[in-house]
Amino acid sequence: MTKQELFFDVIILGSGPAGFSAAIYASRGNLKTAILDISMFGGQPSNYLELENYPGFSLIGGFELMEKFEQHADKFGVEKFPMVEIQSVKLNSELKEIETNDTIFKAKSIIIATGAQAKKLNITGETEFKGRGVSYCAICDGAFYKDKIIAVVGGGNSALEEAMYLTKFAKKVYVIHRRETFRADKLVCERACKNEKIEFIMNNVPVEIKGNNTVENIVLKNIKTNELETISVDGVFPYIGIEPNTEFFNGQLKQNACGFIETDENMQTSVEGIYAAGDVRNTPLRQVITAASDGAVAACAAVKYIETLTTVQV
Ligand code: NAP
Repeated sequence: MTKQELFFDVIILGSGPAGFSAAIYASRGNLKTAILDISMFGGQPSNYLELENYPGFSLIGGFELMEKFEQHADKFGVEKFPMVEIQSVKLNSELKEIETNDTIFKAKSIIIATGAQAKKLNITGETEFKGRGVSYCAICDGAFYKDKIIAVVGGGNSALEEAMYLTKFAKKVYVIHRRETFRADKLVCERACKNEKIEFIMNNVPVEIKGNNTVENIVLKNIKTNELETISVDGVFPYIGIEPNTEFFNGQLKQNACGFIETDENMQTSVEGIYAAGDVRNTPLRQVITAASDGAVAACAAVKYIETLTTVQV
């Protein structure tokens, strides 16, 4: 089958806050703009129950906020391609290429806003019980745990916020954290500590998830005493941070030791005309507001870059 070829000034990969913000700024900057995603649009915040730190909205659902981002991009005529099956990405030529199963997308500039995904515990039973008691999305799966017992692993904002959310369904939620103090914001810690359904197990890490058809136990190791303890749980929700979604770019761009893409203050990567924005890049803060800000900076830099090009015609 001959693949169709589509040409754009800029293609944005990823449709979270960085992607949609970049799309809005690029199309307002008069660039022929496309936004692609291998999933449904909206990125990680679509799965957040609610946010209370995005300026202008004292409380808003994550899904609702991302719908607003998308509607805003629609207003400026951004061309949208959700659920694309990317086969390869070529960044090192003047006209960049993204090949999918039926289309070759070509663009003068690419903004990578592919975000990050949940890190795995990498312990026995985690993969085996995924979808049968191991879940990385409380908002998707929480309702399956009515009156059950859940272990949430981690001590950051995600772990504590999702643990609180899960208490809406579960009769008990253990929060298992490897240290004595939390990484989460003070306010979030205070709220979680007041929740009577949450029991904190500090200085412990999970070493195995056990069960038959579904999860039945989690084995913990006390990192101070090395003692092992098995507790009965019906579900395990690891919230131990994130890793970048860079599988299509690995080796083509400069990345840090954890795989996050290195950029300068203009979101320019190590390859000319390729920008990275949001959680996928090496950044000190990963929030909706900072991702949106990165997207705006990247798009404005792409506009200026394209103005300097003389040879590539679209
Ligand atoms: P995070 O802040 O990196 O926290 C990860 C937690 O998991 C840490 O407590 C860490 O322990 C623990 N951990 C890491 N690897 C582990 C392992 N192998 N075994 C056991 N525990 C492990 O990640 P996050 O909570 O997913 O948050 C990611 C970013 O999103 C953060 O910037 C966060 O502020 C932001 N966020 C914001 C909101 C909001 O504003 N509403 C909500 C969610 C997330 P240590 O503390 O010992 O390192």
